[in-house]
Amino acid sequence: MKSCSQRLSLSIALAAALGLASFAAPSATLAQTGAQRPEARPSDPPVLRRNLRGILGGVEMTAADSMHQQIVDRLDFDSYKELLRGLTEFGDREQGTPRNAAALDWIEDRLRGWGYETERVHYMYTPRNSETAEPREEVFATKVGGARPDEMYILGAHMDGRGGGEAAIDDGSGTALVMEIARVLASSDVHSDRSIRLALWNNEETGLDGARAYVEQRAGLQGVEDPPGSGRYPEPRWLGMIQHDMMMWDHGNPVTYDQALDADVDVEFQLNSAMADQSALLGIALINANRMHASDYPAVLSNAMSNTDSTPFMDLVPAVSLRENRRLYETGNRANPHWHQPTDLFETFSDADFMLGFNAAQTTLGAVAKLAGIRIGG
Ligand SMILES: [Zn+2]
Repeated sequence: MKSCSQRLSLSIALAAALGLASFAAPSATLAQTGAQRPEARPSDPPVLRRNLRGILGGVEMTAADSMHQQIVDRLDFDSYKELLRGLTEFGDREQGTPRNAAALDWIEDRLRGWGYETERVHYMYTPRNSETAEPREEVFATKVGGARPDEMYILGAHMDGRGGGEAAIDDGSGTALVMEIARVLASSDVHSDRSIRLALWNNEETGLDGARAYVEQRAGLQGVEDPPGSGRYPEPRWLGMIQHDMMMWDHGNPVTYDQALDADVDVEFQLNSAMADQSALLGIALINANRMHASDYPAVLSNAMSNTDSTPFMDLVPAVSLRENRRLYETGNRANPHWHQPTDLFETFSDADFMLGFNAAQTTLGAVAKLAGIRIGG
């Protein structure tokens, strides 16, 4: 992305050229203070409905692309926001707390309400400063493939958080994204050739423990029909893992008041992984789906995926993560002042922020529609 200071210098130059003697640099204070972003939101979010669609240069969508677009169009912005708001009612959902357990129940209730048979992964976690392992749980649901129930893509986000706020960004925004996709896929007229698993990891904040437990317990079960002859595959073979973690805030760095004008969805794979080449191809599938199906924000691909639940998968299966910023270069350099803070609240964010998360949902669903073979009707 371009730096905010570049834009600022341009504005100053423009103001000087226009002879605006009283020009005041609007972002200077914020740029200097970073974490002390004012609490009030702008009343008129500027980055909405940019209508990126139609930039294909007049090339008509194929019939298949149009079908994928119809599926993506079933994603609902207000439903995404409402799912996120529901998650934030449980506070930061820190692992091991009653609010985490209650949020897990709530997520499972929603998935069941849409018609899924849910399952839980049970594992043991030893809290820091303790020598006693304690039981923990996480939930997933599966859209079973009609033609290839033995193969699947995994879409993930972590439902636990920290920081004493509401963990809206980290990672209510990704959890609501996966749930909104689950809602769309649950419709009885939506069919998929391959299976799609919607996984809401727990214990991400303690070191990816929930996702690690899933990989440890289930990697060896891939593609096994159980019972034999039943046509049922408790663990379809993994074709790809797509993680969503911190999805809404790309205000540049130094941090600006509004969503940056060049805000985008960052797709990352890990160059230092056994499946790097295949993961890059999965990343390109997402970039292409974004260009085809996202309404307001573009996506870019880079190669330093880190600190997220796709990491335990990356040597076994093509794995990517979607984020508001690149984890190491941007998030790690405090691009999001609300990260793990009490200010990570639903009310902190504007529709321009929510829309970035929503565009990531469009990106993933568009890509998976093509990869898994999803269609509406027969
Ligand atoms: Zn996170």
